[in-house]
Amino acid sequence: MEKRYDLAVIGAGPGGYVAAIRGAQLKQKVVLIERDKVGGTCMNWGCIPTKFLLHQTKFFHALQKNQQMAQMMEGPLAQIRCNWQQVQAEKEKRVMRLIKGIEFLIKKNGIDLIQGEAYLKSEKNKIEILEQKLDKKYTIYAKKIILATGSRPAELPMLTTDAQNVITSREALELQEIPVKLLVVGAGSIGLEMGTIYNRLGSEVIILELMEQILPGSDSEVAKRLQRLLKGSGMQIFTQMRIEEKSIRDSQVTLKGTCLRDNSAFEYTADKVLVAAGRRPVQIGGLESISINVDKIGFVEVNPQLETSYPGVYAIGDLIGGALLAHKASHEGIIAAENASGAGAKKAMSYQALPHAVFTDPEFASVGMTEQDAREKLPNVKVGVFSLQANGRALTMGEQEGIVKVVADNQEKVVGAHILSPHASEFIPEMTLAIEKELHLKDIASLIHIHPTLSEAVMEAAMKARNEAIHMLNNPT
Ligand code: FAD
Repeated sequence: MEKRYDLAVIGAGPGGYVAAIRGAQLKQKVVLIERDKVGGTCMNWGCIPTKFLLHQTKFFHALQKNQQMAQMMEGPLAQIRCNWQQVQAEKEKRVMRLIKGIEFLIKKNGIDLIQGEAYLKSEKNKIEILEQKLDKKYTIYAKKIILATGSRPAELPMLTTDAQNVITSREALELQEIPVKLLVVGAGSIGLEMGTIYNRLGSEVIILELMEQILPGSDSEVAKRLQRLLKGSGMQIFTQMRIEEKSIRDSQVTLKGTCLRDNSAFEYTADKVLVAAGRRPVQIGGLESISINVDKIGFVEVNPQLETSYPGVYAIGDLIGGALLAHKASHEGIIAAENASGAGAKKAMSYQALPHAVFTDPEFASVGMTEQDAREKLPNVKVGVFSLQANGRALTMGEQEGIVKVVADNQEKVVGAHILSPHASEFIPEMTLAIEKELHLKDIASLIHIHPTLSEAVMEAAMKARNEAIHMLNNPT
């Protein structure tokens, strides 16, 4: 007999599995369908493996390259080598441990987990599932459906990937050998993090970005400073580089194109090219059969309550576009599950306080409006910038290159924050809360912060915006 559910969630990434657990908490009979691995892109080929490799390579690199550190140690540091095979094996183990934890939660919440590929059918509430292992096809019914099928790397027409020489982030995480030379196409967060990993491992890393700045759309002052620091660490980064031609010879890839700044031609050759130039939605089969609206790229369109144009079918995460972030997907998963379960009044998603981080060295974390955005849209914007040069904790860590920028409107309501600092991702939440709860500069400036911490720089930046900074000079009044 065909099984019937209150809620079917398709895709078990950070959007889907969180939606399924929330649905189960709300007493729904839930099925979660996954065609590949529980945890989705984030756990298997994204957030978690990259952060593991960034963490491991940071130590390795610091021991090898940090002169200040080396002077304070004794012994043959130069003999230290990275055991790449061991690092890869340990990465797999940690990912597996995390996935086992999620599978445990899925089971204990009473959710039916089906390993198979889901297709939507034109008949309302019907889902067809192809269970690959058993080569079995069957249908289930669900009163409500949440689509959470995620995204895949975008391909550039002149730069199709082949999993060998021209690769995506997925292959880049699993390379058997460390490339001698790595060309990275795209200076978004994935390109910069991958570049950081391989730069630390000794590859010559060259990053080519089409837009005028790295991390397009980010606060340009902070992004420029990060670019300078990354260059200082050995990466070569070029912006306004339009790639026009690819050729492969003897396992060496050559990219040719035009530098848009001065219309000059460029040519680079490397043993690997990583394409990190955006992502595209993974559409579920049958989407068209129930006329769900998608935009011109293919991202599913939803209303603020995350419902698609087909009533009762919701969509979340990378599939609906916007910022492609795991925590956005999870948050949308909670909202969609609550709306689909009919638990109280329907909730709308708000993105004004959506933080994001790039786990480079130092980290770059950001929330709300950039300074440029705020100056274009709001009158008499107030901005406070505080340098880590004047932060005691940064001095003890030998990491004083960063800055904190706080942006406020003319009533001093906080509208944005941009942090370039070690552990920036760990202390941006203070500013996320400030934006979410519409706090003002004085709320941040008057909050007692632990000394010595990097987060004191946030307080000082808020003070600086009011011309009341203590550890740096203010503007003459
Ligand atoms: P996904 O995680 O992609 O999950 C979708 C799931 O749906 C997949 O498991 C897929 O197999 C399944 N599926 C697809 N179609 C079907 C079907 N028809 N039937 C059944 N199952 C199906 N984000 C951050 O916030 N922080 C980071 O540090 C970060 N680092 C990243 C690093 C890299 C290299 C990459 C690639 C991404 C990174 N991201 C990061 C982005 C993050 O991984 C995604 O935003 C997140 O995984 C999106 O979650 P999702 O649930 O929408 O989709």
